Amino acid sequence: MRPNCLTKLLRIQGYRVVGISIEYRKGREAVILELKRLGRSFECEKCHRRIRKAHSSWLIEIQHLTLWQFLTFLRVRHYRVNCPTCGLTLDSLPFIAEGARVSQSLASLVAELCKVMTVKAVAIFQCLHRGTVKAIDKLAMEKVQASRPLDGITVLGIDEIAVGKGQTYWHLVSALEGPRGPELLFVGEGRRKKHLAKFWKWFGKERARGITHGVIDMWKPFRNSFLAKCPEAKIIYDKFHVIQHLLKALNEVRKQELRKAAGRFRGLLAGKKFILLSRRAHVRGKAREALNTLLSVNRRLFKAHLLKESFDHLWSYSSKTWATKFFRHWVEQLKWSRLKPFRKFAEMIENHLDGILNYCDKKVSLGFIESANLKARNVIRMAYGYRDKEYMKLKIIQTCTPWMREFNPWINLHNNSS
Ligand SMILES: [Zn+2]
Repeated sequence: MRPNCLTKLLRIQGYRVVGISIEYRKGREAVILELKRLGRSFECEKCHRRIRKAHSSWLIEIQHLTLWQFLTFLRVRHYRVNCPTCGLTLDSLPFIAEGARVSQSLASLVAELCKVMTVKAVAIFQCLHRGTVKAIDKLAMEKVQASRPLDGITVLGIDEIAVGKGQTYWHLVSALEGPRGPELLFVGEGRRKKHLAKFWKWFGKERARGITHGVIDMWKPFRNSFLAKCPEAKIIYDKFHVIQHLLKALNEVRKQELRKAAGRFRGLLAGKKFILLSRRAHVRGKAREALNTLLSVNRRLFKAHLLKESFDHLWSYSSKTWATKFFRHWVEQLKWSRLKPFRKFAEMIENHLDGILNYCDKKVSLGFIESANLKARNVIRMAYGYRDKEYMKLKIIQTCTPWMREFNPWINLHNNSS
């Protein structure tokens, strides 16, 4: 192929391909395109001032998108210039990505591939070092996060996840209602009131005042932080977390029964935690049979399971009066049972009933918090090798925000084209 034909295809403004050669790079055959700049003057990379004369120069190679099966490198002369304002700096090369020896087009593709592939896979695919791939991905995500729109959000949700072993927690702040639909806004360390300060500062006082509802779990520091920053907002306790407390109570009952159990029944009960805690409608086939047998032999478990299944109903009301009636009736059924864990649960609900009933007036989408929580845990598990907390946080945000997660491999490729 002729050099001027490649110049056309390459579409890098201000440069001409003057030579093509095939050499070995990174154990593979590579096309080396030699570029020559067309203009005579230079440009300071800091202040973009035009500069007539170069101070010194040397050749560099920039990895670009592969050409057919060949790795591709652009060989170009990089000039050092003496800028009257900035001193000794470099001539700007706009097609090079920030912080890496790759072209912007390749960096953009790498960042997109990282949305759907592991860093390791992208590194193998593009013949790049894993650290380079990670750095490119991180920088791209940082840019998106720094410039993301935050206006118009009306409902916020705050949740927490356990990170690693021990008592380390991170908090996740999401927008549940806003112009872009549910999205994850922020991931921060810790779960105390002071830990949330960073989020509020970033989100801004004015925007916090526009929040009408906050969806949180029954964790006091979140509630206090929320009410301090959004005095107008109403608290809604997240269904996902309330149900988790209920499942914990049911599991308590299961453990108590297991301790008491002997003989055949012990065999029936062992290893049934999952089917007992799952929603009955989701338990099918053999598991369903096992569940039915189990519940038919133990009255206490039967009762506890029934109460667990029916509690869900509380979120189906649009009237606070009827929801309260339902709850009172539910508690009434506990009276003659010896289900102590359930009584404790009912007490806790009683103390937080206001925040649960607020859902009657405002049906926020509750599924997002739960699914974001699951996805976040997945990211942490998969990215554990990195030990780069900031990278992990950004990856969680990206994974849990639909518009950021969208895979657009060719989106930024022609930024520098003519
Ligand atoms: Zn300058």
